Amino acid sequence: MVLDTLTLRVAFGAVALTLFLLFYFDTYRRTRSAYSFWWSAAIALFLAGSSAYLLNGTIHQIWANPLGNVLAVLGAGSVWAGARSLRTVASGATTAGTWHLTAGAAGVVTVASALDTPATNNWAGGAWFLATMALMIGLSSLELWRLPSGYTRIQRPMALAAGAVAVYYLGRCVAFIIDGPRGQVFLTVFGSAQTTLLTMMLLVVVSFSMAALSNEQVTRELRTRAIRDGLTGLLNRSGFMDLAAEEMRRLDGTGTPGALVLADLDHFKAVNDRYGHAAGDQSLRTFAAACAATIRSTDLVGRYGGEEFVLLLPGAGTVQAEVVARQISRNLEDLQASADFPLPTVSYGIAPLDGGDLNAVIAAADVALYRAKAQGRNRAVLADQPLAG
Ligand code: GH3
Ligand code: MG
Ligand code: MG
Repeated sequence: MVLDTLTLRVAFGAVALTLFLLFYFDTYRRTRSAYSFWWSAAIALFLAGSSAYLLNGTIHQIWANPLGNVLAVLGAGSVWAGARSLRTVASGATTAGTWHLTAGAAGVVTVASALDTPATNNWAGGAWFLATMALMIGLSSLELWRLPSGYTRIQRPMALAAGAVAVYYLGRCVAFIIDGPRGQVFLTVFGSAQTTLLTMMLLVVVSFSMAALSNEQVTRELRTRAIRDGLTGLLNRSGFMDLAAEEMRRLDGTGTPGALVLADLDHFKAVNDRYGHAAGDQSLRTFAAACAATIRSTDLVGRYGGEEFVLLLPGAGTVQAEVVARQISRNLEDLQASADFPLPTVSYGIAPLDGGDLNAVIAAADVALYRAKAQGRNRAVLADQPLAG
């Protein structure tokens, strides 16, 4: 069977255009994520590059063929930028360098193609072009591979697919240099028709993967927003209740002790009244930071409502929970330096889990908290402790 390059390029154009429209208007417009922007750009550049090659054999070949090469290299650069944007979002690194290298690569390919009789030579600058493509796609593969594990379930398959394409382009480059563009190996394995077919399939696969990744991220974000408090970033009440109930079942099953702490900022209304609502909000965020700096990764902390917070400490007895409460207040004092108004003190009510249900334990901690307030605030009181004084 002889694959006809021209027909395949037309089919490629139709598929790429359809994918571009679908991807741009569905995924990119919906998510506005950096990687979906770069993938839209990559499809558009591959499409434009492949269209430029359609002018081979006409008087326009002299500019269209080098242009096709450069557009394909820029497309590969966009794939790299997209892969990189995933990793920089995940790790906070910067993207400097991506564009210098891509622009450099495009420059090299332009010069190499222009100096290699592009008017008649379909493969003007071919070796440079193939080597550059292998490099850019190889770098994309590396970026995907270096994503923190568990970032998305498609990262490894995508990294391997990109790696395979990079190796394919490297193979094309080597065959081109050794065998020439009319050599048997190059024509049967690495020719333009085969590459067009392969690229077409990959475009579809990657577009589907990218759309899946977008949906995965949107779902994850919605889920996070549903259980987090917007002001402090702690769990919100229902998020805490769900996770705490689940954790208590687990602790019950293993006979592990645990404690629950209710915390309430003292005279918080006065902070709002004297220093303004923004100062009140800052107090809440600072208290959340003091909690985060104290608790272990297995502890749960949530904003129970207003200026009340709740902590579940698996494995801790009430005495240990009291130590934790004191540490939180000490951390809060240390954070005083970052506020230009006096931060409120905090009262705590502490109850053991003791196999009771979550609402009952919270009620017991609430009684203890009430006592802490009655005893003068800025202290922790254990449940079922007689009122002092
Ligand atoms: P106590 O020591 O007895 O706990 O006194 P308090 O002033 O802390 O308690 P009170 O219940 O009288 O006041 C709580 C205040 O918290 C009233 C409410 O306006 C304020 N508040 C609730 N949620 C927020 C919030 O998100 N931001 C700010 N700035 N204030 C809030
Ligand atoms: Mg309160
Ligand atoms: Mg209060």
